[in-house]
Amino acid sequence: MKKILITGGAGFIGSHLAKRLLDEGNFVICLDNLYTGDLKNLTPCLENKNFKFVEASVIDPYFFEVDEIYNLACPASPPHYQKDPIFTFKTSVFGILNALELAKKTGAKLLQASTSEVYGDAKEYPQKESYFGNVNPNGIRACYDEGKRAAETLICDYIRKHDINAKIARIFNTYGPNMRLDDGRVVSNFIIQALSNNDITIYGDGTQSRSFCYISDLVEGLILLMQSNYQGPFNLGNPDEFKIIDFAKYVIELLNSNSKLVFLPLPSDDPTKRKPDISFAKEKLGFNPRVTIQEGLKKTAEYFTELQKA
Ligand code: UDP
Repeated sequence: MKKILITGGAGFIGSHLAKRLLDEGNFVICLDNLYTGDLKNLTPCLENKNFKFVEASVIDPYFFEVDEIYNLACPASPPHYQKDPIFTFKTSVFGILNALELAKKTGAKLLQASTSEVYGDAKEYPQKESYFGNVNPNGIRACYDEGKRAAETLICDYIRKHDINAKIARIFNTYGPNMRLDDGRVVSNFIIQALSNNDITIYGDGTQSRSFCYISDLVEGLILLMQSNYQGPFNLGNPDEFKIIDFAKYVIELLNSNSKLVFLPLPSDDPTKRKPDISFAKEKLGFNPRVTIQEGLKKTAEYFTELQKA
């Protein structure tokens, strides 16, 4: 039985990963300060004798004797990470430093949840891991983008200096159950708006694009990377790309909604075109996202329908 630490374990991705790793017979510790995470996401785990929840911040040093560390802790939706940008930056940078120190002390393998945001408003399309990115270091997204870029730098320096076993996953837009009602990202916003026949809020003219990956596919990719002998970085996501306006129309149709489109100002530095090139992860890890957008959106809509009833 492996002992596995998930920082940010009560969050959207962390809670799915915790459930999957418990089901596979591991001992799982979730560390979370519940800033955007929610204990309700861990309901299927809390009764398991091989599960432990610790309420703490990754900004402060911590110690657990573990075999693997998934470092997921950080607010990830633009409204949440922009609410307290200094805290977001500290979470990324002090968070990875503390995770790296733990990996150094215990010899644990470490996987970092990095992000497509390291590419910024990419000038390369689709984005490959070799692209260095186009990030505004002074803008409203920088607390997240630069925090995650700095974390990648620290990981590579710890590997070179201290020979630790660490891996970098660059996670592209992911969606599914356990997203917050007030998450603010496009998939959850559009589903919630469509379910209640409220206006669908399109930022800008909706010609910007994103590519959406269902949570179970992403979790599979994270585990494949942790089990591999590779360091990465690896893009993990689904290359199924939509213009935001087309995505809004698709959600309205799929959910039989009467919602209308409204156009709101585009936030600054909003990336124009985002689509992962996942050929590296396919070839080296056997990563192969399978859940269709239709299937994934239906499952997510069911989740939000239940949540709104509660
Ligand atoms: N977006 C939108 N309406 C919303 C929320 C987001 O049009 O209610 C747009 C946003 O401007 C961006 C895209 O959808 O172009 C994806 O935004 P999200 O916040 O989901 O994540 P991002 O990929 O920008 O981090």
